[in-house]
Amino acid sequence: MEQCFMDKVVIVSGGTRGIGFETVREFLDNGANVVLLGSRQESVDKALAQLSEEGKTDRVLGFYPDLSSEASITAMLDEVKRKFGTVDILVNNAGVSDAKPIDAYDDEHFAAVMNINVDGLFRLTRLCVPMMKHKGKGVIVNTSSMVSLYAQASGSAYPTSKFAVNGLTKALARELGKDGIRVNAVAPGIIGTDMVKALDPKMIQAMAARVPLQRLGEPEDIAHAILFLSSDAASYINGAVLSVDGGYVG
Ligand code: NAD
Repeated sequence: MEQCFMDKVVIVSGGTRGIGFETVREFLDNGANVVLLGSRQESVDKALAQLSEEGKTDRVLGFYPDLSSEASITAMLDEVKRKFGTVDILVNNAGVSDAKPIDAYDDEHFAAVMNINVDGLFRLTRLCVPMMKHKGKGVIVNTSSMVSLYAQASGSAYPTSKFAVNGLTKALARELGKDGIRVNAVAPGIIGTDMVKALDPKMIQAMAARVPLQRLGEPEDIAHAILFLSSDAASYINGAVLSVDGGYVG
């Protein structure tokens, strides 16, 4: 797969750490121009500094647009167009997790999870699609979750948001196929990132023990699947939700 993204322009939301950061790294290693997005200047600067240490900064830009604001996203995309000309691949990876019983939620908390996991994804996609339509070609990969396929025992906002991500993936795949734009999702299992490390360790251990491959996933496991779905090797895959979970969902 080496160099197959040469000259492609890739946006990765939630690209400052975890799965997103590893995806940024892999795209850079494979020749792409990459735009990494984060929620704060500090985290974007930290990610860029890390890439600089690895000698990978000549083809990467970092921004922290407010994904709840069309104006903020548009300003970021204007900068991307000035620097790289277009967007070929969009990886919608930004997301927040939570787990609590329904009577511990209030409307604001539920809406906050949906706002980043669904509305932000929709908004960023909506604003990138015209560039892809113009070229008659593009790829969108959304980061869903294994809980979009079976839900989880506690917490309702997160699985609801990820079921919505799958719905949006399939709806857009149907709508945009005629424009040469493929839309797919990856459904990661339990991946050893900050998001997972923040959960109750007993809960993590119990879940890992139930993975048929007997280990937590690594960010690279998901990045590899995202690059595959973004590549020409996946040119007839559209509307798929690819489980990358060590066989957990089965
Ligand atoms: P992480 O917490 O390490 O990273 C999340 C990323 O999302 C960060 O870069 C952060 O800046 C960004 N983000 C969060 N809130 C944001 C906001 N309001 N605006 C803009 N960006 C924001 O998480 P991760 O584990 O790498 O998860 C990445 C994606 O994978 C998420 O969509 C998550 O739901 C999904 N996922 C993760 C796992 C797992 O086990 N880690 C499992 C299934 C799905």
